[in-house]
Amino acid sequence: MKRIASFTVNHDVLVPGMYTSRVDGDITTYDIRMVVPNCGNYLENATLHTFEHLFATYARNSDLASQVIYCGPMGCRTGFYFLVRDMKPEDAIRLVRETMDFVGSFNGEIPGASRRECGNYREHDLTGAKAIAEKMTSVLADWTPARLVYPE
Ligand SMILES: [Zn+2]
Repeated sequence: MKRIASFTVNHDVLVPGMYTSRVDGDITTYDIRMVVPNCGNYLENATLHTFEHLFATYARNSDLASQVIYCGPMGCRTGFYFLVRDMKPEDAIRLVRETMDFVGSFNGEIPGASRRECGNYREHDLTGAKAIAEKMTSVLADWTPARLVYPE
């Protein structure tokens, strides 16, 4: 089998940020990297889970909602993939930044976190989700389309 594109990224030089993982026609997959890979600290499942619920809620209610395809956690627990259609890179960065602001200041009931709505409704951590959002807010503060290219 072929080695897929995301395995060709050099994870030894990857630092938190936002990168273009791949482009398939009008669909772009962004890599929202939140922790340094292979450094012993990974996002907890409960943290990722709550972040996912809030990320999806915000992105799918934003002015760019119709261009949002998917957002979900990486199995290695170091970040998220964010798939969009026909969206300008500067708009994708803005949307991700706004998402971090939304999650970082979120209070109240986690959307979609009832037993009926979620497959693991007890495994949530709003405090953890807010902490990674606050961290990513500063990481992405000066992010530009030129910085979407993976470090070599
Ligand atoms: Zn869930």
